[in-house]
Amino acid sequence: MAWLTRDGLDRLVEVLRERGYRVVGPTVRDGAIVLDELSSARELPAGWGVEVGPGHYRLRRRADDAVFAHSAGSQSWKRFLHPSRAKLWSAERDEAGFRVSTEEPEPVRYAFLGVRGCDLAAIGVLDRVLDHGGRYHDRRAGIFIVAVNCTEPGGVCFCASMGCGPGVGAGHDLALTERADGFVVEIGSERGAEVLAAVPTRPAAPDQVEAARAAVDAAADRMGRAMPAADLPDVLTASRESDHWTDVASRCLMCANCTMVCPTCFCTTTEDVTDLTGDHAQRWERWASCFELDYSYIHGGEVRTSGASRYRQWLTHKLGTWHDQFGTSGCVGCGRCIAWCPAGIDLTAEMAALVEQRKGAGDDHRDDTAPG
Ligand code: SF4
Ligand code: SF4
Repeated sequence: MAWLTRDGLDRLVEVLRERGYRVVGPTVRDGAIVLDELSSARELPAGWGVEVGPGHYRLRRRADDAVFAHSAGSQSWKRFLHPSRAKLWSAERDEAGFRVSTEEPEPVRYAFLGVRGCDLAAIGVLDRVLDHGGRYHDRRAGIFIVAVNCTEPGGVCFCASMGCGPGVGAGHDLALTERADGFVVEIGSERGAEVLAAVPTRPAAPDQVEAARAAVDAAADRMGRAMPAADLPDVLTASRESDHWTDVASRCLMCANCTMVCPTCFCTTTEDVTDLTGDHAQRWERWASCFELDYSYIHGGEVRTSGASRYRQWLTHKLGTWHDQFGTSGCVGCGRCIAWCPAGIDLTAEMAALVEQRKGAGDDHRDDTAPG
């Protein structure tokens, strides 16, 4: 383990930029902490924390100048790996007919700075779903990840109960734990070691390492909520006809915010556009959501016409059938869908209600199935 000072963090950003990475990390903009390109570590949100609850997110000033003491904002790293909108091809008509050209995105090498445990797990989920060659693979291949062990969970966080935090798992190049006067740094890859060698550090003292570990352990006990410890796929399968779906639908606005902010929701649709002459056409891919009515349109009609069926689809896929499809849960416990739901709907509370309902029905679902 190494010890990195705050000035050393500035140097780390410089070194990554010198190596051709576009460094992206948290910064303050428009009353929120967003992810954006950083030219210096001085653009990190020093001294800013967040106050988060169901349907609620506010920045708040901290008494210290910590740079990573805030929980997940509305944006996730998904927007860089799997952009919300991308042009697939365009076509131009001339005397010879149509000429179709595909759009090859400009190659970018990102360095992600400040990836928390939940979001590192979410990148792993996206990799399992989308990393099969093509554009996702090209974007993902060269990414350098500086992860951050979380010491300040927010009010809607529940990564500990999903097995995804607050400490980071595998898949990073470097992992930082923030302390008052610097960072304990752990090396996760050869590439990470090579970059860190270019930054002034010294070996971390045993008491610094121990204090950092204790702060991360303490964060696990300060999560705002927890996913019920039950066999969630089993409960969801047994709850197919539950009247609770109608109860949620009476509160849900079908706005799709939850799926847009979710770091693992990956669904897309395509849109074709033409101009009035008919000589120019384009095909775009954009994020879609199972909350949209036409998302379930199949050959002449929508399959999921009620709000209840759409919420059921989302929760059942996310926490249930995702396991069958991808071998893991689709939820990493980041809490974004709770904070950014205008109705304050909380999937942990909805899941707890379903678990209680099944217990009332005489089922026994007490097996803990934290995601792999
Ligand atoms: S379902 Fe909600 S809490 Fe789970 S990963 Fe998605 S946004 Fe985060
Ligand atoms: S659960 Fe909340 S965020 Fe999701 S569609 Fe319903 S109202 Fe919108």
